[in-house]
Amino acid sequence: DKTILGKPYEDVKIYYTIGKVLGTGAFAVVYLCTENSTGQQFACKSISKSKIETKDDEDDIKREIQVMQHLSGRPNVVEIMGAYEDEQSVHIVMELCAGGELFDRIIAKGNYSERAASSIFRAIMNFVHSCHSMGVIHRDIKPENFLLSSNDEIALLKAADFGLSTFLEEGKVYEDVVGSPYYVAPEVLRRRYGKEADIWSAGVVLYILLTGLPPFWAQTEQGIFEAILLGKIDFESLPWPTISSSAKDLIHRMLTQDPKQRITSAQVLEHPWMREGGAASDKPI
Ligand code: ADP
Ligand code: MG
Repeated sequence: DKTILGKPYEDVKIYYTIGKVLGTGAFAVVYLCTENSTGQQFACKSISKSKIETKDDEDDIKREIQVMQHLSGRPNVVEIMGAYEDEQSVHIVMELCAGGELFDRIIAKGNYSERAASSIFRAIMNFVHSCHSMGVIHRDIKPENFLLSSNDEIALLKAADFGLSTFLEEGKVYEDVVGSPYYVAPEVLRRRYGKEADIWSAGVVLYILLTGLPPFWAQTEQGIFEAILLGKIDFESLPWPTISSSAKDLIHRMLTQDPKQRITSAQVLEHPWMREGGAASDKPI
């Protein structure tokens, strides 16, 4: 048997007791787990080796762990505690985020006031800025991949899924079409992109936070892609008349077709709407 992590098998159950399922993804099941020596709770992402078929699949898992280790300790990033492997699976033990997905909060709430949106969005952009300044493209910025650290009102937002992330290499032309339909940048569909693609996806998230609706929508995936490549943004329908022009300006700069003309993560954090904390209005939309 060949190991994936390149070290001898080590049973995760020696150190942790695996509990209930917290969530499932395309390749993984995530369990609650308890550290045997301390009783402290963590999350364990288990990826079944039956799903790891090719060398590329193996590289993807190794890269996911490497990116987590590289970004661990940054604000708004789940901390990785360790990686284990046995006959059946690879296990990634990480900080527990007990507050669930940002996605579910958005669904429950409909949309956010500008002030509330700006505080969530600051956490997301701090994270994107960390990635870009640490040489990582996330490639899957969307509300499902941000978790709340707890159920408190003041919970921290943490990025938890680095399955599609990759390291930035100078001069490399990225061409793998990855990501999720609503959030994917036009240059990703054109198969020539870089870190700017994350800014587009974050712009889509901001639009959704403020309106509850995706900016590029159609019945079919193909239709969504056509809308993205067309890039026409609706700033007229409700609730846009009640939203500040500063918020529209920021979204406009993030959802700019040409990645070279698009605003950068550092510039987003300095944008007036961010600096003022979405000050224009605090009324529910
Ligand atoms: P995939 O790579 O297969 O999409 P994810 O890493 O997104 O898997 O995890 C799947 C789901 O498991 C998440 O959407 C979330 O609901 C849950 N989950 C993942 N990480 C954690 C964590 N650290 N704490 C709590 N729940 C988590
Ligand atoms: Mg996921």
